[in-house]
Amino acid sequence: MVGMEACSWYDEEQTTMNYLVFNWKMNPGTRSDADKLMRAVIKSGKKKNVIVAPPFAYLERIKKMIQKTSIALGAQNVAFSQPSGGMLTGEVSASMLSDFGVEYVIIGHSERRYQLGEDDVHVRGKVEMVQKAGMVPVVCVGERHNMSFSRAKQAVIRQLFAGLKNASPRKKLIVAYEPVWAIGGDKDVSPSRAVRMIMEIQTWLDRRVKKNVPVLYGGSVHADNADDFLAHRCVKGLLVGSASLNPKEVSALVEKVR
Ligand code: PEP
Repeated sequence: MVGMEACSWYDEEQTTMNYLVFNWKMNPGTRSDADKLMRAVIKSGKKKNVIVAPPFAYLERIKKMIQKTSIALGAQNVAFSQPSGGMLTGEVSASMLSDFGVEYVIIGHSERRYQLGEDDVHVRGKVEMVQKAGMVPVVCVGERHNMSFSRAKQAVIRQLFAGLKNASPRKKLIVAYEPVWAIGGDKDVSPSRAVRMIMEIQTWLDRRVKKNVPVLYGGSVHADNADDFLAHRCVKGLLVGSASLNPKEVSALVEKVR
């Protein structure tokens, strides 16, 4: 199998992860619920490499809450360019986010690609802006529909090629494989297929960008199935949407962070 050399073994004992990214999307609906949810993350104990990406409206309060923890602040979006005079209504620049204390930015999420028209030019620009501002891009890639592995691989590699064209090999980068059809919190995904794709991604990154870029999995992950993905050495962590809104799920997932 192509990609085996990049990450070649499976270890049922190894069910801890390096990165856990909570993507709250456009949730929760109120500031007090955001506080409650954040308290659940903080209460969960181990915090290193846990990244919380709340909506922009809650960044300020979440930043205050995590001040004395090692939880990192993430953003769900960023402007794809920085035109002179700040002429980009409604956008938030990478330098603003970095100045604010954001460390990670999710880029190319399927909801942005397919509901908001984010294209390769946007993804590429955002990766460049985020790296230049000293933050870490978390670049999401994944096939849109459930299709054959070879077609899915083609779609994923195309997204990597287009989105990471200007990525700096000297700067940090994280990639998240998120098959779009598997997003939603309740979809049935085969961990072995996801792992196989992650191995392909890892091989591509090793050759085309740089070695040891952490590749995460995202798509209907919860505490009960997380280990099925994490048992493989290639999977360096998880990007979690729906389950990140449930305090019980949150503590069980944080428990798995190394
Ligand atoms: C996501 O949208 O990035 C995601 C992983 O969602 P969910 O966990 O709900 O499938």
